[in-house]
This record gives sequence, C-alpha cells and structure tokens, in this order.
Amino acid sequence: MRLKIKKGDQVEIITGKTDDKGKRGEVIRVLPKMNKVVVQDLNIRTKHQKQVQSEGKAINPGIVKLEAPIDISNVMLVCKKCKETTRVGFVREDKKSIRVCKKCGAKLD
Ligand SMILES: [Zn+2]
Repeated sequence: MRLKIKKGDQVEIITGKTDDKGKRGEVIRVLPKMNKVVVQDLNIRTKHQKQVQSEGKAINPGIVKLEAPIDISNVMLVCKKCKETTRVGFVREDKKSIRVCKKCGAKLD
C-alpha cells in the first residue's frame, strides 16, 4: 500500500474532535493498520497513573501526557517546499513510487 504520510512528515490537523485543529506537527509514528498517525505534541491525552510509593513517599504525580493517534483522514500533509497543506500525488521514478506535492510539484521523498 502506498502511504501518503510517513514518519518525519509535517502535517496539519484539518478536522476532528480536537482542540488542535489547524496546528502543525511532525509525524512521529504511523499506524498503517489503523490508518492513524501520531503527531508530536498534538492531540495530547492525559493519562492518570497510580501513584508509586517509594520508601514511604509518593513519587510520580500520577499524570502522564501522551499523544493520541489521529486518523490519517483528519490530517493533511504540509509540503516541505511550499509550506502549504497539500494533497499527495505519486510519480514513478526508478520503478519506485515517489510522493509529490500537488501544489508545487516538489518531490517529498
Ligand atoms: Zn509544495
């Protein structure tokens, strides 16, 4: 399957139930089977963890911040060259599919 979004890409959240709509970040993980991506510092969920007791003292205040995966359809790729959100096109070169920006034509791989 040709993935439109890869680790290290800049994406912008374009829709979804998040306060981070319109924000951009770097993709730190792609979950192809779930059709989701994890974007650094966006779509943060706080998880409450049990406090850990160590020598009678509570360590770890109990809140961990984690980036929750976002549906790939809720993000749009930001072109490295023109810095615009863009749809991704594919061209074949040396028997490989490489991604191109549909706005400026820049190669993205
Ligand atoms: Zn572009």
